[in-house]
Amino acid sequence: MKALHIYTDIFLNWQTLLDIVIIAAGIFYLYRTLLRLGTWKILIGILAAFLVYIIASVLQLEGVEWIFKNVSHVALLALIILFQPEIRKLFEKVVSVAVARKSSSNSDISQIVAQSLISLAEQRRGAILVFPGKELIQDKISGGYLLKALPSIPLIMSIFDPNSPGHDGAVVITDNLLTHFGVRLPMSESSRLSEEYGTRHHAAMGMAEETDALVLLVSEERGHVSSFENGRMTRLHSQEEIIATIEKHFSGSGIISFSQVTSFKPRTVLQVAASLLIAVIFWSALILGQKQIVERTMAIPVEYTPPGAGLVIAGTRAQEIIIHAAGPKSAMNDFALSEPKATIDLSKLMQGTHVIPVTGENVDYPKDVSILDISPADLEVTLTSLTRQSAAIVPQLIGQLPNGFKIKKIEVVPDSLQVFAPPNRQADKALSVSTTPIYLNSISRDGRILSKIIAPPSFQPVDKRWPDVEIFITLESGLNN
Ligand code: ATP
Ligand code: MG
Repeated sequence: MKALHIYTDIFLNWQTLLDIVIIAAGIFYLYRTLLRLGTWKILIGILAAFLVYIIASVLQLEGVEWIFKNVSHVALLALIILFQPEIRKLFEKVVSVAVARKSSSNSDISQIVAQSLISLAEQRRGAILVFPGKELIQDKISGGYLLKALPSIPLIMSIFDPNSPGHDGAVVITDNLLTHFGVRLPMSESSRLSEEYGTRHHAAMGMAEETDALVLLVSEERGHVSSFENGRMTRLHSQEEIIATIEKHFSGSGIISFSQVTSFKPRTVLQVAASLLIAVIFWSALILGQKQIVERTMAIPVEYTPPGAGLVIAGTRAQEIIIHAAGPKSAMNDFALSEPKATIDLSKLMQGTHVIPVTGENVDYPKDVSILDISPADLEVTLTSLTRQSAAIVPQLIGQLPNGFKIKKIEVVPDSLQVFAPPNRQADKALSVSTTPIYLNSISRDGRILSKIIAPPSFQPVDKRWPDVEIFITLESGLNN
């Protein structure tokens, strides 16, 4: 029941709804873009992979989850490369919405174009006309000639006269002006047009896949007029159909405008609903997966703050404790990665043996994680006071002298020093500190070595720092040459 509460709390807030709406809009636009470019089938593959992931995470199949988590970054990169043209389109679309040019046309132009196309079709002359939508087409077209002329039937007929040098290629009509003729359009890269169609049809389709332009085509072989828009070819049978197509293009202008989305075409409604559904499933699987409560047991190190002045920890102390924590998966992951530790404050403790309870307060953990159990529940620490004592300085000799050499005498100056140390319990063994290592294998004559002190952690120097010591090594004189 508590879990249900957590889930309704997560779902019923405006951030969640906004999150889902944005994801749904992304899916919807991605689908429409892929649809236009004729590559939507890849979506089915992605959806199938995603479905497998959801099932795996619901059933907690760790192997599959692991593969998805570890491969997903590479897969994302692969998808980005694979979908580079589509992603580019998506961003161009965003830009074209942001700087939406006002493209317009008056009905005279529609009339003129429609009549010209009908005449061209009757005379079996091939032609392509492009009406750009909101997206820029400059980097899609190439070649051709610039012209700024009011379209008229004689002008269009002359351009597409097979005897005229400019009849090859397409004419572009922007803002009621015939701006280019003889331009080359990009070839369709999808396989939706059958091979019975030639280059003109594939060029018209390419333009309609890559941009939101309306492309009108007259086939010289068939004597037909067709329109290409959003990757779809439609046969136009009459002058009225041509006019209606042009006017519809300018009223909605190509891309899925808001009016188009809200025009309640059953197909669009279905797509929006599907996008929303996918977004909800995606969101639940991903976010709820992250918010899923998990428990974890881990060993964490214990850190002791230094005890008060004149005191040290005597004997051994626990270096590690085991904590059992629970919380949302993401918070638990962050917690584990933060290298948690338990801190025990010794600064206010007096001399003697203390049993210190360890609680959640000793551990620094995120607020949505809770600590269920700590073992051991308390730690024993003994503090002893330091007394001023004398410790011998023992040189730390490493290795052996080179062959043939023998030590006669080693003298450490000074040979002992005053330290603050815990009471010496082993009465038979005098207190001692050692020097930093002295490597014998490099010594072949008498000499003096400067060395530093290495003392156990519970020892403290009487002065602020440990003094340097000198070590005099004398070798057997008979062997020393
Ligand atoms: P049709 O039904 O008119 O014969 P088609 O699809 O069979 O058309 P082709 O017969 O190959 O196509 O038509 C060739 C003409 O198409 C070229 O002469 C040229 O005018 C036009 N064309 C070919 N490629 C392009 C292009 N990339 N951009 C614009 N026009 C093109
Ligand atoms: Mg042909």
